[in-house]
Parts: sequence; structure tokens; C-alpha cells
Amino acid sequence: MVRCSLCDRDAVVRIGYARLRLCRAHLREYLVRRVRRTIERYEMIGQGDRVLVAVSGGKDSSAMLSLLAALSGELGFEVVPFHLDLGIGSYSEASRRAVEELSGMLGLKPLVVSVRDVLGVGVPELARRAGRPACAVCGVVKRYFLNAAAVVLGFDVVAVGHTADDVSAYVLKAFLTQDWGSLAKTSPVNEAVDGLAARRVKPLFEVHEKEILAYVLSWGLPFVGDACPYAKLSTLVFDCRRALAMLERRRPGLRLSLIRGVVRSRGIFPGSEEPVRACSECGLISSGEMCSFCHLTASALGEPMGAEVIECSSQLSIG
Ligand code: SF4
Ligand code: ZN
Ligand code: ZN
Repeated sequence: MVRCSLCDRDAVVRIGYARLRLCRAHLREYLVRRVRRTIERYEMIGQGDRVLVAVSGGKDSSAMLSLLAALSGELGFEVVPFHLDLGIGSYSEASRRAVEELSGMLGLKPLVVSVRDVLGVGVPELARRAGRPACAVCGVVKRYFLNAAAVVLGFDVVAVGHTADDVSAYVLKAFLTQDWGSLAKTSPVNEAVDGLAARRVKPLFEVHEKEILAYVLSWGLPFVGDACPYAKLSTLVFDCRRALAMLERRRPGLRLSLIRGVVRSRGIFPGSEEPVRACSECGLISSGEMCSFCHLTASALGEPMGAEVIECSSQLSIG
């Protein structure tokens, strides 16, 4: 076994761009410090803020919840886990169990909402009826339920577990497909829009998944290791992830310089000033007359269901 660079214990991970090998205790310290610096650098969360943390049950969001819980006392914010049961068979059941177990370990009570309870169908059936790929529908559903809960329950911030690996892959894909609008929107923080959308932040924006995996494994944090049955390994964004992983091995720090560079210069890409308004059906954020969730449910289920999600969110109890 290789030694930790900072003490005599065995290292559990090698961090190439920082030229460090760290044991589990120093890895935790390193990640807490890194997330604290990310929160401060991008002014993500203020003192007294109430933060709704999206936890899927996967390794990234489980690590994020644990790290935010560790920082909440010192930085003076409140953390509430939010889990959306997507209705994807045994995968969703295992995800829900992992979130409940982790929340229990951290002394937190999660808010859990089931897509099937609110819409009458889970994500796979909703996608089938809409005639769209499961992941496209899932993205719209997850974003909508999370924002609705945050707005209705008065949270200041929602936190999502996108990592440096995720963001850099989306950036590379956007360059390859000349999707300048996506590059213009690449940001660790999307500001709140009064009454329509809560502030959305990515505390793991500068953290790599290799470090996260070593963290959750070495600390025994519950998470679902199996991939969702709808995850596709043949997409362009997945190829971008693989290419960037290879480049990062040869040139440590490349992912971070890519995403920091795009954030610094995103104003030069067309599409940064997209207008927003209130959805005519549900009243939450929309870029057109009706929001994408009301559109989706109107076409798949015969009526827009935003109001049902808002009603369900208002009945969630925190405490
Ligand atoms: Fe949803 Fe697709 Fe992720 Fe499965 S792989 S959880 S369907 S976005
Ligand atoms: Zn150490
Ligand atoms: Zn709507």
C-alpha cells in the first residue's frame, strides 16, 4: 500500500493535479475544504440560507449531502435532503433505501416524493406515452419537482450533485456540436428568479468523481452502485467523459481549467440572456407560454400536471 502524503496511514486515492495521495481522513478534510472554497468563491450559499439538497442515491449526490452536512454548522446554513422516487423498478427502490439510510446516519430527515404517486405513472411509462427517450423526460421531471418543492416550501437554494466530470463532458459536447446556448449557461450558480425558481448551485463543480468514489467507499456511505437501466453508454456525452478522463490522466488539471475558462468567458457565447416568464399553467419558471413540464404532461397524460406537483409539494412536512 502507498502512504498518505500527509501522515503514516495508507492512501485511498491519488489526486494528480494536487500531487497528493491521501488517506481516508485527509481525503475527507480535502473535500470539505474544496467544497467550502467552491461555495465561497462562487457565493453559492449564504449564512442562514435553507438548502434543499437533491439526493438521487448515487455516489455523487450522497457525497454532496455528507459534505454539505459537515459544513452546515460552520457556515451557518440548514440542509434538507430531497429525494424523488422516479418509479424505475428495483433501481428506484434501492435508491430510496440508500437515501433514507444516509440521511439517518447524518441525523437528517429527507423529503421523499414519488413521481408515480403524483402523476399516476413513473418516468418510464411517462416517456413511453410522450414518445421520447427516458432520460430526456427524466431530466425535465427531476428539475421540475425539485424547483417546485424549493419554491413552495420557501428554500433559498437547491443543491445538485454535478461534478467536474459531468460539467466538463457537457462543455466538450457543447463545443463539438456548436451548442453555444449551453456554453452560455454553464455556471456553478443559476440565480433565483423571484417566485419562479430557487437559486440552483453545484457544490461539486470542482470535485472529480474519482475522489468522490474513494470518499464514499472509504467512509462506508450508503449509495447505489448499479447504473440506472436507462443509462446509455453510447451517447456523445459519454464519449466526451471517456476522452476527458484519458486527457486528465496525461494532463492533470485539464478538466478544471476547461470549466473555469468557460465560466469566465461565457458572456461571449450567444444565448446568455434568455428571457424567462411564468408558465401560464403552473406559474413557475418558463422560457415560453407553458413550461417544459406542463408541455410534457399535457402531451403524455392529456393535461398539464404542474399544479398537482405544486399541491403535493405544499403538503410535504419538514422537521
Ligand atoms: Fe433518469 Fe436517464 Fe439518469 Fe435513469 S439514466 S436516472 S432515466 S436521467
Ligand atoms: Zn493522511
Ligand atoms: Zn408549468
